[in-house]
Amino acid sequence: MLVEPRNIDQTGDDLRMSDLFYCQQTLRAKHHWPEHLPDQGPLLLLWAYGEMGEVGEIIKKKGNGAVMNNPAVRRHFVEECGDVLMYLVDMMDSYGVTPEEISEAYARKWKKNMDRTWEENRKLYEDEDE
Ligand SMILES: [Mg+2]
Repeated sequence: MLVEPRNIDQTGDDLRMSDLFYCQQTLRAKHHWPEHLPDQGPLLLLWAYGEMGEVGEIIKKKGNGAVMNNPAVRRHFVEECGDVLMYLVDMMDSYGVTPEEISEAYARKWKKNMDRTWEENRKLYEDEDE
């Protein structure tokens, strides 16, 4: 279900998950791109990986300092991070994941991680440190 987002412009407003889904669904509709269906999920995920590679290339070629301090590099870096989000939202949409579902899953995982110590992970490799 499409939820009309707040006014989406380029002012840097904090977008909600439902805004991201709305943007991707209206973009697809405007350009008459095929409906997002499960068959497209793997390809959309692959494209998200591709965009992650573009993020990695900027970090690799420009370095952390430029990402943090060079406005042009930072703008490009953030833009590519946005591309990753767009394809992840498209991929979730292809499987019918709703903004509410991913929000609930995210919050549930966050709460779980807040209580985790990762002690079990440390124990896995205890013998290798000795
Ligand atoms: Mg890109």
